[in-house]
Amino acid sequence: MLAAVLHGREDLRLTEVDEPTAAEGEVIIKVGAATTCGTDLKVWRRGGHAKMLKPPTMFGHEGAGVIAAIGSGVTGWQVGDRVVANNSAPCGQCFFCERQEFSLCPNLTWNNGTFAEYLKIPAPIVQHNMLHIPVGVPDELAAMTEPLACVLHGVARSNAKSIDRVVVIGDGAIGLMFVAVLAQRCAEVWLFGGNADRLKVGEKLGAQRVWNYHEITDIPSTVKGLTNGWGADIVIEATGVPTVWEAAIASGRPGSTINLFGGCPKETTVTVQTEQLHYSELTLKGVFHNTPLYVREALELISQKSVDWNLLVSDRRPLKDLGQAFDDMLHRRVIKVAMQP
Ligand SMILES: [Zn+2]
Ligand SMILES: [Zn+2]
Repeated sequence: MLAAVLHGREDLRLTEVDEPTAAEGEVIIKVGAATTCGTDLKVWRRGGHAKMLKPPTMFGHEGAGVIAAIGSGVTGWQVGDRVVANNSAPCGQCFFCERQEFSLCPNLTWNNGTFAEYLKIPAPIVQHNMLHIPVGVPDELAAMTEPLACVLHGVARSNAKSIDRVVVIGDGAIGLMFVAVLAQRCAEVWLFGGNADRLKVGEKLGAQRVWNYHEITDIPSTVKGLTNGWGADIVIEATGVPTVWEAAIASGRPGSTINLFGGCPKETTVTVQTEQLHYSELTLKGVFHNTPLYVREALELISQKSVDWNLLVSDRRPLKDLGQAFDDMLHRRVIKVAMQP
């Protein structure tokens, strides 16, 4: 079958590989749609990821389709079932899992390889993080369960209240998903990004105000200028750039929560003013990945159709065009591309 294999930094190859077979506890999915993601681009550029993969490896982590084969010992599923599987599952037994802190599980089982005709789902994911796709939800939207689960995890950790004014920094798919979810839960969402088309999508998803950061002096003074000098109640950082983390922290009001969601390159650091952190009682939150609870909530939110998630799918392409899809992502011509093997 045709599959994408990541060999190293900026070295992704479409090659013929053997079709996977289902061992005990495993399931094989015929991929209907696999969505591209900012993390894919980041991993491609950096040639690896601290947690989720090490090249050479099958590539792509958002996907949905139909069960093509079932290994021994798997119950409750049938060939032909439409499913979406998260790209990880916690072990359920370690120090962190015992405390329900599943995203910190050091034994997370990761799965990559959605950019392929068939995808093997490891047993722990079959058990904990594979879900039936409700009728009426297309594969390309179901495939977004994973990133939306990460966002719902991030929203839950942000202490968002209905009265709050939220600033989201970053107009990638993750930033835009934060806008969509927080617009439903908070008084106001303001979005800072670098791309006019994406900012328009942000407005459609519920952002009351948007700014192109190329056109303003800086984000903190823009936010403070509109909030009596105070800053935002909640700030979501969704770029993964250390200087933007600092701008996010500087944009919060006294008592605010700053969600540092975008993962930065290895060994980078940021500077925080001790005085601001202490006397302004800031809460700085690092939030990583998702948990089985949010995977379920994400698919439910997608199936409710209260948000037009189609706005995030800029293009659909056959798998052989993956190189072009990456080029389009690199040049920010698309938000997400649904690859259809
Ligand atoms: Zn993703
Ligand atoms: Zn664990």
